[in-house]
Amino acid sequence: MAKEKTTKFPELTANEKLLIKLINKAGREEVRAILQEKDVKIDCLDESGMTPLQHAAFRGKYDVAELLLLFGADVNSSFHENGYTALMFAALSGKPEVTRLMLQHGARKDRTNSVGKNACQMAAFVGQHQCVSVINNYYDKSELEYFTKPRGQETEPKLPLTVMPALLQLLNMSNMNPVKVSFHLQKFQGLMNESYKVCKVLDILCEKSMKARDTDDVMAVKTHYFATVIRKAKDSDSLDTWIKWLVKGRDLDGHPENQDKIIRQALKEFPYVESQLLQNMVRQLSMTKVGDSPTSLNILNQGINGQKFGFDVEQDCSICSEPDAKRCVKCKMAFYCNQTCQKLHWPTHKKFCAKLAEEYIQQEKMKEENRKREEEMKKLEEEEKARKQSEEEGKRMKEEEKEPTTQDTTNKDISENVETTTMKDSGDSVPEKEIKDLNIDTPSS
Ligand SMILES: [Zn+2]
Ligand SMILES: [Zn+2]
Repeated sequence: MAKEKTTKFPELTANEKLLIKLINKAGREEVRAILQEKDVKIDCLDESGMTPLQHAAFRGKYDVAELLLLFGADVNSSFHENGYTALMFAALSGKPEVTRLMLQHGARKDRTNSVGKNACQMAAFVGQHQCVSVINNYYDKSELEYFTKPRGQETEPKLPLTVMPALLQLLNMSNMNPVKVSFHLQKFQGLMNESYKVCKVLDILCEKSMKARDTDDVMAVKTHYFATVIRKAKDSDSLDTWIKWLVKGRDLDGHPENQDKIIRQALKEFPYVESQLLQNMVRQLSMTKVGDSPTSLNILNQGINGQKFGFDVEQDCSICSEPDAKRCVKCKMAFYCNQTCQKLHWPTHKKFCAKLAEEYIQQEKMKEENRKREEEMKKLEEEEKARKQSEEEGKRMKEEEKEPTTQDTTNKDISENVETTTMKDSGDSVPEKEIKDLNIDTPSS
């Protein structure tokens, strides 16, 4: 759609107004009902040029956004007064899944707002790192489609069309755990059957990312890493054997050191040594021993997904790193996203479960002690504060006794003083005591 700059948009119909209201407040079914009204245009614009989809994206409403897209909403509508797109609104909302939804529906990453910032830069600016990572890691379908048609002298395409969706999904993964990658290969056997071609395409993508005008280290490292995992998996007797090898923990502490081996090898073999990202990761790896924290996987995840990732592994599956996993009932120290992961881990975990259970009790005890200590500290601080306050109160009382009528504790008098009112309006940052002190000081001195 051509970008045209209009200053005024046609007035919304009553139902369109209702639609926008419902997006902000109600759920998917109410929105669906109103969308079926005749006088509702899916891409109607409110007074600031925002479409219903942009409203849903801004509110982080996945269900509603999905429904609007189903009804044909334009994901790249750009009539907003500041040039914001649905992707920008989603990124600002801090909802990674809504951000991904926009991208999956063809949202352009390269669109910029009226001050020249794209969605990724806007998200980074407000600290929505998960959304930054989703956008950074998003690979567009059209870039892969290129390889599915024979080019030049080729008699067959570089990439069979049948494996394209699975490869696209792989490229859009942000979880770099090799077990998770291998689960994906298990789910889409085509990737393994066509592994030679798939890896060749990954190699080309890697090279393209590094040779582009704007080099994309993240995508280059990612594609190279995936190719390494696929080639290694292919060399194995079977995917099952490969995954078991990846999951196997060392005798010392159960740490899956084979994963470190794969990650370190992939980075060692990365062909573009000048890459800043590579150098950063290698430096970090050289400072840590296998099994220590951060692990090689932490470092890789952080490199690919940005600052906020890689170390926040509290509730991640111990096997595949998927988030929101459940605890092992016995030790409460291992986490699993499902039974498959738990079963895979058991041969290693059974050697450590009992010991970990003891550690857990120890940890909880320490946490409890720390909590109590903090509570006591807080209490002491509060007592001290109260003591100081009453001391000052006493002092002030003495001063007030001299001139009791000028001191009014309500805001009536303050509201007459413009300067003071502004200070009060700006929030709690200016303590009331200071304002009062100001009032006292000026007349008496
Ligand atoms: Zn898992
Ligand atoms: Zn356990």
